[in-house]
Amino acid sequence: MGTIAISGCATGIGAATRKRFEADGHRVIGIDLRDVEVVADLSTPEGRGRAIDETLQACGGRLDGAVLCAGLGGHIGENATVASVNYFGVAELLDGLFPALQRGEEPSAVVMCSNSAQLVPNAIDTPLVQAMLARDEPESRRVAEEECSGQLVYMLSKNAVGTDVRRRALAWGDAGVRINALAPGPIETPLLQGGLDTPGIGDAIREFKVPVGRWGRPEEIAEVVAFLMGPHGGFVHGSIWYVDGGADALTRSDRF
Ligand code: NAD
Repeated sequence: MGTIAISGCATGIGAATRKRFEADGHRVIGIDLRDVEVVADLSTPEGRGRAIDETLQACGGRLDGAVLCAGLGGHIGENATVASVNYFGVAELLDGLFPALQRGEEPSAVVMCSNSAQLVPNAIDTPLVQAMLARDEPESRRVAEEECSGQLVYMLSKNAVGTDVRRRALAWGDAGVRINALAPGPIETPLLQGGLDTPGIGDAIREFKVPVGRWGRPEEIAEVVAFLMGPHGGFVHGSIWYVDGGADALTRSDRF
């Protein structure tokens, strides 16, 4: 049994992941805007600082796992907030929780990316991904507001998150902490529903072909998180797992 911090676990994938780990007897420290142990707003530097401090306090400086699920859809009409939560709410928490993970037992982290992260050609060269990876939050927020659509901010923030995870592979591996990203396709959660309810975006989601013929359930993502975090996933490190009913295979058959 271990102690696992989960961000974004008030609803959706994070809530299903919490339930999955608690069923196995783990202790979960939830980080979210409401209904959790650590109430914090990950869209601001102050909120992220509080999230890290209070999580470290709650776990006594020792964590066996971290699952970072907090995220916002591109449909919400607040591009700067999406950039801050989706990228800085991940990267800064990974940095802040890393010392506690190093003291954990067979420690591991999983971050929610998205199968849309690879839909923008040469995403790594875009001003938004460059600003994010440079950890320049004011510039990231400016580019997100002034130069991008909401959906583009979402996809690029997830691209930056995936790159951030992969760039940690050597240092985290040396420290004995595994880290992976999971790239879901459409999963039936409040985030997906928000997109479906937004004119101009809902139809695009409905038309997005998923080879298995349905959308996923949060519990199906939680199962893969549990595998990646557990002993059977012990050699999986620095990788991005597409759990999307085959949608990535359909759109990028020849690129992997
Ligand atoms: P969700 O909306 O059900 O859950 C997101 C959680 O993040 C919520 O509990 C919310 O309160 C929390 N959150 C949002 N802003 C926050 C803030 N400022 N501070 C703290 N917490 C905040 O969505 P979900 O579908 O479960 O998404 C979980 C993750 O999976 C997200 O990162 C999302 O981008 C990713 N994802 C989801 C889908 C999908 O189709 N549902 C697909 C690909 C990736």
